[in-house]
Order: sequence, then C-alpha cells, then structure tokens
Amino acid sequence: MPVHTVDLYVFFANDENPDANIRRFEQDLDMANRDWKGCIQFIVKGIYSSKRKRIVDAASIPATNVFKNRQIDHLIRAARYSIGYQTGIYIFYLNGDYFAEGRGKNVVGVSGTEMVDFKSSKDYEFFGRILLTNMAAGRHTLAHELGHILFKRYDARENRFIHSDPSGPYIHSETKKMDPAHNNNRKNLMFKISPSVNPVLTFEQCQVAKQCKIVQAQNEIQSNR
Ligand SMILES: [Zn+2]
Repeated sequence: MPVHTVDLYVFFANDENPDANIRRFEQDLDMANRDWKGCIQFIVKGIYSSKRKRIVDAASIPATNVFKNRQIDHLIRAARYSIGYQTGIYIFYLNGDYFAEGRGKNVVGVSGTEMVDFKSSKDYEFFGRILLTNMAAGRHTLAHELGHILFKRYDARENRFIHSDPSGPYIHSETKKMDPAHNNNRKNLMFKISPSVNPVLTFEQCQVAKQCKIVQAQNEIQSNR
C-alpha cells in the first residue's frame, strides 16, 4: 500500500524561545499524524525561525481576508523565497492568543491555498499556508486546518475549485445555515470547532485528501530517485 505524504515547512514568526517553539510544533505534528493516521502522513522538511523584523502579532491581523493582509503577505513571500518556492504546506506560528475580530471571534487558526501553476483542470500546482496563534496549542487546530487544504480540488461538475468537506456540510442547529467547509458530526475533525479528544475522519474525507495535488504517493517518490 502506498504511503501518502505531505511536506511541511514550519516558520516561527513569534518571540518564544526556540525550545518552546519546537516542543509546541512537535505536539501539533504528533496530533496531526495521529488524527490522519492510515490516510496521510505529514513529513517535516524544514523548521525556520523568523528574523526579528518578521515577528507578527496575531492581534494586529483581522480574521477576515487574512491572506490579503500586507504583513501576512510579506511573511509568506519571504518564507517562499527563503526555501526556493517548495511545494508543500507552510505553517506559521504567530505571536499572541487570537486574531483580531473579523470573520469570527477568538480565531486561533486560519488556512488557505495559493495556485502557483495552472495548465488545466487536471494539471495544476498550489501550496498551502496555515497560521496558528498560541491558543491553538494543545488542540487539534493544526490537524483541522490541514484538512481544509487537503480538500482543495477541482470540481468538474461545477467547473471550479472547491475545498468543501466531502462529508459536509455543517448545519447550524438554530439558523439552519449551511457551511460546506465543515462537518456536522461533533466528533469529526472537520466539525466547526475541532473536537478536543480523538477526532474521527470519514472514508470520503480520506479518499479526497489522498487525491489532493499536494499529496505524494511514497512509492512514486522512490521510483523517481
Ligand atoms: Zn475550519
């Protein structure tokens, strides 16, 4: 059985001490690999500490259109440049507990993708980016945000890119408003607020994730060497 892997590049844009940062990331990675076990394996390709001027306070970034924010845009561009525009998922640890209010209150993690090459609906390349605050520590936030990126795919029927949860949507219990990016099962990793203990994934979620362009099948990597 091929192992499906995803490359991660980690950047600390905070002023924590290096040991605490590494411990924090290892805990997040450990949870992510446990949550996605039997489906996707995350491989760390590099860990980098940002220079002093690149420290970003989450509280100064409104939680709406985060990736259009100048400071965040600069942070990501610098990171991409510094590692030669590798394909994978870029994870940034920011200073502070929460993003500034915007899309929601008390936001501790955000994710998104950016297309770098598009030849056709079957031949394209993108990279992922995740931002985490201090309050995402000890929770399944990284594993959850990774899910949003892994669900990015081209939908031939709708003729556009989507990143909806294949086992979604989340339906608000009172307003009945639907959120296609999230799951309606509180035990599922992709529930709106990621569960605190042993989140589950569905077969469909795993299947969609494995087909994501950012995922590599390990036996293919070996044959290329
Ligand atoms: Zn989410």
